[in-house]
Amino acid sequence: MRMLSTSPRLEACVNKLRPNGIPEGSTFAASKRTHAAMSTITSTKVHNYSAGPCILPQEVFQKASQAVLDFEGSGLSILEMSHRSKPIEGVMSKAQALVKELLGAPEHYQVVFLGGGASLGFHMVPQNYLKQGGKSAYANTGEWATRAIQEAKLAGETLVVASSEDKNFNYIPKGFEIPSDADYFHFTSNNTIFGTQYKAFPKSAVPVVCDMSSDIFSKVVNVDNLALIYAGAQKNMGPAGTTVYLFDPEKLGHTGRKLSPMLDLKNHGAKDSMYNTPPVFAIYVSMLTLEWIKANGGVAEAEQRNNAKAKLLYNAIDALPLFEGTTAVEDRSAMNATFILKDAALEPAFNALWKAAGINGLPGHRSVGGYRASMYNALSIESVQVLVDVMNDFSNKNG
Ligand code: PMP
Repeated sequence: MRMLSTSPRLEACVNKLRPNGIPEGSTFAASKRTHAAMSTITSTKVHNYSAGPCILPQEVFQKASQAVLDFEGSGLSILEMSHRSKPIEGVMSKAQALVKELLGAPEHYQVVFLGGGASLGFHMVPQNYLKQGGKSAYANTGEWATRAIQEAKLAGETLVVASSEDKNFNYIPKGFEIPSDADYFHFTSNNTIFGTQYKAFPKSAVPVVCDMSSDIFSKVVNVDNLALIYAGAQKNMGPAGTTVYLFDPEKLGHTGRKLSPMLDLKNHGAKDSMYNTPPVFAIYVSMLTLEWIKANGGVAEAEQRNNAKAKLLYNAIDALPLFEGTTAVEDRSAMNATFILKDAALEPAFNALWKAAGINGLPGHRSVGGYRASMYNALSIESVQVLVDVMNDFSNKNG
């Protein structure tokens, strides 16, 4: 891949991110080939803006790779160890403890790691919180909230008490009422596809359930006000394959429903997330990522870094007339920044430029088009600077 840009700053940033051991002056493509040929563990290859699965810390990849070969000197791969073995029980309890510690959860809250993705969570929520003959309340802020609502409707009466569908989900509804006779209220804290994010969480006397799949561990939240947080791992926590549920066990078991044990959060909590074989490797990689978050100042410092990255990019979007943000300014997501080129005819030229700078995963979700820069915890501000430099270069050439 040839560098099309001539910006020295851009070159410098790209070079900084090149894999170790790659000869000076080689092109990115050649670097990647060398890289592929190397049997040792390698470092970040590109500026990865993918929406999920997505970038994770480089040291997590290294430790996880080592554990596949030989888990902590045991002579066994983590992939061949029983989930009932002491070391894997240790991984589970460490991962559970880190979730609670990093989110500041009350002592009695429980953590389980299940398979099935956050999409199974859409189904489990009404099963665990909707009373027989009761009703639920939902806020609809996009595709994932819509799917959660569809699942709730299969289980019983579902009120959509707030929605931004009228403006193609480009804002977060505010000032809505949550009925006091609802069995629970569900919202999606970050709208991964459309790029909006709640800056303040809705509060209610009824149990509040939050799908935090795309912004968990990215900012400080008050867990005391939430009966359940659930999140697919594959954004800020780890690889696809597990979903974390952090819940208040006292809010479970009040529905009068007979549940399959596999759908029963209380059961999974009581069995300490080992009712059936858990996705051990995905949980291990999540544990490593949580350790990395802790070692780097915890969620509060991650939030500051994420805000700085978001500011850098949104300032560029606002300053450069060729580009335009697609969401209400006050609701802009710090995780997924969505924007367009006002003149779509310029897209091929812009695409060539960011690809040449070693950027990956920038196109918007297939249902909306445009661009989406996903800036999860592990993406460095240097990578955001590379994108901003590309946008500046492009504007200078085409403005
Ligand atoms: N909720 C949100 C906010 C998401 O972004 C996603 C996936 N991107 C999901 C739920 C669905 O997650 P999964 O694919 O793990 O079922």
